[in-house]
Amino acid sequence: MAWGAAAGYPARMSPPPFALHLAAKRSQRPPDGELVFGRSFTDHMAIVDYDAERGWFDPRIVPYGPLALDPAAAVLHYAQTMFDGMKAFRGDDGKIRFFRIDRHCRRLHDGATRLCIPPVDEALARAAIFALVSADRDWVPSSAGTSLYIRPTVIASEPFLGVRPANRYTFFVIASPVGAYAGEAFSPARILVEDKYVRSAVGGLGGVKAGANYIASLRAAEDAKARGYAQVLWTDAQEHTYLEEVGTMNLVVRIGDEFVTPPLVGSILDGVTRDSVITLLREWEFQVSERPLGMEEIVSAHRDGSLREIFGCGTAAVITPVSALGWKGEDLVVNGGEPGQVSRRLFDAISAIQYGRAPDPHGWTTLLD
Ligand SMILES: *Cc1c(COP(=O)(O)O)cnc(C)c1O
Repeated sequence: MAWGAAAGYPARMSPPPFALHLAAKRSQRPPDGELVFGRSFTDHMAIVDYDAERGWFDPRIVPYGPLALDPAAAVLHYAQTMFDGMKAFRGDDGKIRFFRIDRHCRRLHDGATRLCIPPVDEALARAAIFALVSADRDWVPSSAGTSLYIRPTVIASEPFLGVRPANRYTFFVIASPVGAYAGEAFSPARILVEDKYVRSAVGGLGGVKAGANYIASLRAAEDAKARGYAQVLWTDAQEHTYLEEVGTMNLVVRIGDEFVTPPLVGSILDGVTRDSVITLLREWEFQVSERPLGMEEIVSAHRDGSLREIFGCGTAAVITPVSALGWKGEDLVVNGGEPGQVSRRLFDAISAIQYGRAPDPHGWTTLLD
């Protein structure tokens, strides 16, 4: 059955079931202690195809394996592709919980227009994720700090070298068990403030998880690593003054008792963790401002001692404290190089909800069954 606006499929109807073509042989999940982010994948993947006549069609779970792509497929030449990244957790009660699955599916849906990709209906994306994790539930690890990383992706598969939106696509979902950040959990990172390269500009693709953003960031990240920094802090494309994001995480800075995070003006991603952090901070009665934050303000807060915490936030590590900012040949050390108090409290609070150890008053988690 077709699925999608092009085929006149009504939105909000429940998606068609995924046909199950299960692997004849299951492979062994690596021991929890040996899991490396994004290196091993579960036994299956979810796939749905799209063409202009049928909309999204043929939803299915198949054994994990290579895709057959024509070398002229548009994605391979013009990067017409986007993805999302979310996690499922095995709770202390043994149950599997997705964290904010609806918000991730909505972001995948909403970002498609910018890339001229036909949006994947939120209910279809959700059904794909459920079908995959149900088939591969044994792959959700259970040791402390582990999880199953889920990667929904859309690629333009039409073989055509003309520059225009493709009219054939593949939506797939793969999943990878990930370990606790062994030894590095919550370890503070030195970050270089980037004043040469640009990841994205207002009006560009920065608000979407487009593959092209990540390739645009590699040169700067490699140069920063060569200089002894873990990542870069992106600044605005015009003046290299206003702070945007830390690598592939959203940025939060505590000055005195105000928490500042850059506004969603199109050049930065609307992170699910960012939203969770803002929600918790407001509940804890901290002042949170979504406003531009310039390096001048950081330097003066550092000088007068009111620069108390800086952290990045994102699905992969939840909260990554920043120990120092490299800026104009100097290191501005934050909180004596130690993680801030509230950074730690946020990490603990969000993790507790993800693993079902704490109540979930916002309905952020969804049980697999
Ligand atoms: C994915 C991502 C984030 C974090 O978003 P989450 O939804 O919290 O994982 C932030 N910035 C960029 C550039 C990203 O790709």
